[in-house]
Amino acid sequence: MGTLAASRLALAEDLPGTSIADQVATIARKNLAPMASAIDAGTIYPDELLRRLGDVGAWGSHQPSDGAADLRCAIQSIASLGEVCGATAFMAWCQNTLVWYASNSDNEKLAEKFGDKFATGSILGGTGLSNPMKSFFGIERLKLKGRKVEGGYIVKGALPWVSNLGPDHYFGSIFEREDEEGGTVMFLADCSDPAITLQPCKPFLAMDGTGTFGVQFRDVFVPDELILAEVAAPFVKKIRAGFILLQAGMAFGLIRDCIAIMDEVGAPLGHVNRYLPQQPTQFRELYAEFENEAMALARDPFNEDDTYWRKVVALRLRLGDASVAAAHAAMLHCGARGYLKSHRAQRRLREAYFVAIVTPATKQLRKMLAEA
Ligand SMILES: Cc1cc2nc3c(=O)[nH]c(=O)nc-3n(C[C@H](O)[C@H](O)[C@H](O)COP(=O)(O)OP(=O)(O)OC[C@H]3O[C@@H](n4cnc5c(N)ncnc54)[C@H](O)[C@@H]3O)c2cc1C
Repeated sequence: MGTLAASRLALAEDLPGTSIADQVATIARKNLAPMASAIDAGTIYPDELLRRLGDVGAWGSHQPSDGAADLRCAIQSIASLGEVCGATAFMAWCQNTLVWYASNSDNEKLAEKFGDKFATGSILGGTGLSNPMKSFFGIERLKLKGRKVEGGYIVKGALPWVSNLGPDHYFGSIFEREDEEGGTVMFLADCSDPAITLQPCKPFLAMDGTGTFGVQFRDVFVPDELILAEVAAPFVKKIRAGFILLQAGMAFGLIRDCIAIMDEVGAPLGHVNRYLPQQPTQFRELYAEFENEAMALARDPFNEDDTYWRKVVALRLRLGDASVAAAHAAMLHCGARGYLKSHRAQRRLREAYFVAIVTPATKQLRKMLAEA
């Protein structure tokens, strides 16, 4: 990070002693807002900001305790970031899933070594679970293969996109065992391992500042202390609702800003914008409904009921649809103002499509609901 960004961070040093979500919102407004365009353009990966968010507790509130977990603060915090920058909300989700995996693992050595470091943001990282999530729902084959050796596994293969990465970052993923035992194993990948290569991706429509890479595993030795779950399937069942619910924060932040954009042009253009079929009031109502539903579900992420799971999937589907609808409406309300590259309306539209295509994508969610 450059000195300009670093000095911006220093401005937020004396935050009031309020709740984690409030402090995250302050950092979002003061420090993230001036960086949002550069992150969108891919000229900044905001690692210092992510660590600063760790300092105020942004990555720790959803860790389970006594068999229960509460995701509400994490979702609200991601929403505050997403209100300003969709890419940063996505990176926040990546970091939160990494914490979610480590804090739900029964591997004590792993928890001891990494738990606090992930939760405080001193180690950053994410998740390479798109391919496994698609494979568990019969959409594609697992791309990583592993075999048992003394003290761990040897893993090979490649994942096309993993975000919030850098040379010293970690991420969770899953490989298929090719040895006689078979099955699937969930593990942490250490990007500093010389047998792991991070390959830059071609430019995206948005999300270029998210530290997203293609990741190649060339016979990587994964020691036992990096195993999240020797048997991945039940672990995935345990963490999957949290994985999806945390994504709600990305949608909430984006929808809130799209409503703000529509409100901002209400004075000069309201006399004609009122003929548009979708109005900010409708999105406010929809938002309130989604927020109530998400906050209720977020208090109980280990609920094993099928009805609970169906509600999580259905809400996630609606949030993707509503993000695209809100960003589309914001564009129509703005007219030529929003068509300027310098206006955030067009950025919100590009970011909204990401909410709808990141795993579980709209089409996968529809498949899951059709088969549930
Ligand atoms: C900016 C960005 C960041 C992402 N970050 C992560 C992350 O952190 N972790 C993670 O696990 N996933 C990540 N993904 C993947 C994402 O979650 C989805 O899996 C992806 O957008 C496609 O999902 P889909 O269900 O629409 O699959 P589809 O696009 O329908 O199909 C996906 C499959 O098609 C093939 N494919 C698609 N495009 C190409 C291409 N250009 N070249 C070669 N093969 C291709 C690949 O085999 C891929 O598995 C990221 C994607 C993007 C665009």
